Amino acid sequence: MKKDSTKIALVTGGSRGIGRAIALRLAQSGFTLWLTYKGNHEAAQNVKSEIEGMGGVCELLPFNVADYEETEAALAEKVETRSPDVLVYNAGISRDNLLMWMTRDEWDSVLSTNLDGFYNVTRTVLFSMLKAKKGRIVVVSSTSGQIGQAGQVNYSASKAGLIGAAKALAREVGKKNILVNVVAPGFIETDMTEKLPKEQVLPLIPINRLGKPEDVSSVVHFLCTEEHMYIHGQVIGINGGLAI
Ligand code: NAP
Repeated sequence: MKKDSTKIALVTGGSRGIGRAIALRLAQSGFTLWLTYKGNHEAAQNVKSEIEGMGGVCELLPFNVADYEETEAALAEKVETRSPDVLVYNAGISRDNLLMWMTRDEWDSVLSTNLDGFYNVTRTVLFSMLKAKKGRIVVVSSTSGQIGQAGQVNYSASKAGLIGAAKALAREVGKKNILVNVVAPGFIETDMTEKLPKEQVLPLIPINRLGKPEDVSSVVHFLCTEEHMYIHGQVIGINGGLAI
């Protein structure tokens, strides 16, 4: 039987922003995309069309990463027959508020999407990678998870949690030829940062510009594809010097 040489990348939150750029970059280098998102069908369909326009293949998988049953229903059967070569855990939200005013819902929604979602997706996919004895996992954390950010106690906690989870997982699965790394972007121009007061943020960034989604996707692509790879369990800041 002919060996299936198609490489598959599962990118969560691939319909917009950073996830979209990662999906396009991986599609450019020949990956078939399993592209997940929550509910923005139009944005997801646009990414799929862009990928098909460059001759690639993209399957759309809408589900809520915060919901374990939904995640399992969307992914478990697929990974029984084929392990993804790459998992990028990128889906995430922010609900900013000072802790003093933060509602329980603002706390819960951010933790459940950003951190529980990582468990839900990775737990569902990992066994297939272990069986395949190969894989690359890249987790999208944030500078906020490294140094904390006022008004983002929920978000910073979730993103710091991802760093701890990814480091622990790296220790568990390194011997199985599964490499796990984290990228920690600073301020990147996407829907999430649309309302950010640029004039207040720019003075904090030594290279004097906000990042673009492509600044992140280039690094994720490297981590997912480079053959000579000895980077494992690391956190790579992509922040223009915001945190040095
Ligand atoms: P974005 O433009 O708001 O896109 C978020 C993506 O996540 C969308 O595809 C969205 O799907 C998906 N998503 C959100 N909640 C979901 C859920 N419950 N289930 C499934 N998918 C869900 O955000 P972004 O700025 O590209 O951020 C992407 C990642 O980078 C996030 O983890 C974020 O925390 C992180 N990050 C961003 C920045 C920044 O400055 N932008 C900095 C550091 C880290 P729909 O389109 O269906 O809503």
